[in-house]
Amino acid sequence: MLGTMQNVPLSIAQLLRYGSTVHGSSTVATWTGSESRVATYAQIGRRSAQLAHALRSLGVDSDQRVGTFMWNNNEHLEAYLAVPSMGAVLHTLNIRLFPEQLIYVVNHAEDYVIIVDGTLVPLLNQQLPKFTTVRHVVVANGDPSTVQAPDGVEVHGYEDLLAAQPEEFDWPSLDENTAAAMCYTSGTTGDPKGVVYSHRSIWLHSMQVCMTDGMALSQRDKTLAIVPQFHAMSWGLPYAAFMSGASLVMPDRFLQPEPIAKILATEKPTFAAAVPTVWQGLLQYLEQNPQDISHLREVVVGGSAVPPSLMHAFEEKHNVRVVHAWGMTETSPLGSVARPPRGVTGEQEWAYRYTQGRFPASVQARLIGADGKELPWDGKSVGELEVAGPWIAAAYYRDPDPEKFHDGWLRTGDVGHITPDGFLTLTDRAKDVIKSGGEWISSVELENHVMAHPAVAEAAVVGIPDEKWDERPLVAVVIKEGQSVTAAELREFLVDKVAKWQLPEYWTFIDEVPKTSVGKFDKKRLRARHAQGELTVETVK
Ligand code: ADP
Repeated sequence: MLGTMQNVPLSIAQLLRYGSTVHGSSTVATWTGSESRVATYAQIGRRSAQLAHALRSLGVDSDQRVGTFMWNNNEHLEAYLAVPSMGAVLHTLNIRLFPEQLIYVVNHAEDYVIIVDGTLVPLLNQQLPKFTTVRHVVVANGDPSTVQAPDGVEVHGYEDLLAAQPEEFDWPSLDENTAAAMCYTSGTTGDPKGVVYSHRSIWLHSMQVCMTDGMALSQRDKTLAIVPQFHAMSWGLPYAAFMSGASLVMPDRFLQPEPIAKILATEKPTFAAAVPTVWQGLLQYLEQNPQDISHLREVVVGGSAVPPSLMHAFEEKHNVRVVHAWGMTETSPLGSVARPPRGVTGEQEWAYRYTQGRFPASVQARLIGADGKELPWDGKSVGELEVAGPWIAAAYYRDPDPEKFHDGWLRTGDVGHITPDGFLTLTDRAKDVIKSGGEWISSVELENHVMAHPAVAEAAVVGIPDEKWDERPLVAVVIKEGQSVTAAELREFLVDKVAKWQLPEYWTFIDEVPKTSVGKFDKKRLRARHAQGELTVETVK
């Protein structure tokens, strides 16, 4: 027997229609360096219609891929809404990919149009001749004449293209499983892999972002989306904002601590999301330049493990709650959010908040041990995390990877344990675990302990080859400006925090931890720098 309910396809067009009418007075504010330029959702709705007409005039009449090479801003939001709604596929290009990776993803996705921000044209120009399928480049917020277009590529100004277009569009009715947007992983190993989100997966994921135990986004919020729109869809914030009516604040290219502090002071957002390195930077900036940021009801931090010291500093010095979340490009990305269960307080509450979080009903999870068998959720057994659900990828785009997807599950490459009440603690990425004397050392745990030292700005731990133990941890430390600390002092600091055999004997002091294209610690590069003898290593026993 079938249900008797209407079978209405879930669609981005419906999000666009809803947000731009019911929440027509909500706003998106893009930072320009000194102030914001603001558009209402009603205006964004009209401009999205104009963009769709403009793209149609360029020949986008089906599921062509429309690439964006852009910062977080109004125009990028318009592309997020217009491109999928018209039945085409939005392809957010990571502006920080290595040139060969960028060429790979544009050609692999077969992008037909690229919308580029004026400031990013010089970066795009270098690779443009190597894009084999691109026929149109549209320049937003800049001068189209700066594009060095090869033969066969037409260049347009974004505003010129939109100017004469109608402000309404007859959005087509689409199957909810139709491709809406695609995003490639940052390709830390091998070629980047394409994840293609459907209208349905984006809709359901947006609902989770708005749920109270998700990010609790609502029309009362003003959301500072620092996490790039070119990385895992800005964690779903733009679509969730149109679903809930939450206003958006977009930092554009102003991502350093000083402008972020200025944006906070001017726009006073209630909510913000970014990777830990952004918050570490802001925290240090605020130490020197105090400012009230308690207008933030909370900030969601994920993408890599959040050091407990960061959570405490925000809460105790700034009265801002840091909420830890886990996810990946393949999981749309929201996988789990650390909201402690009712009734817990004090240390116990903190212990829950340090975890990567609790799975929502739509994300099924299991742990697989080294022998391929499923492990219990007992808060102790450590295995590789696998997940399944309606916004979890089932495959990569034109890139079979049987290693990654099996029996309807996604192998995350993350290693950890789960409590009986569904809280995930990641101890490491499978490739970053340090294998010492047949035991595993969690690089993340060591980092968190070292970063709790008051003189330490950042610390990254990688395994380095060791004749006797196979691998041993090397701690790369960035000291805070104006402070000093020695390797021996840091080792002493760890003595009562980790098992004796885990105490690192190898230390190096560096100016900055190398970061990936999305601002995470780049441990691969750190390991390579060590292998090439570029790091001065101190041994302390
Ligand atoms: P990339 O793999 O290129 O970093 P993603 O953004 O998709 O791109 O990264 C997802 C990975 O980031 C996860 O598999 C996990 O290893 C890591 N990650 C995300 N959130 C957390 C978190 N809260 N704690 C620890 N690791 C995290």
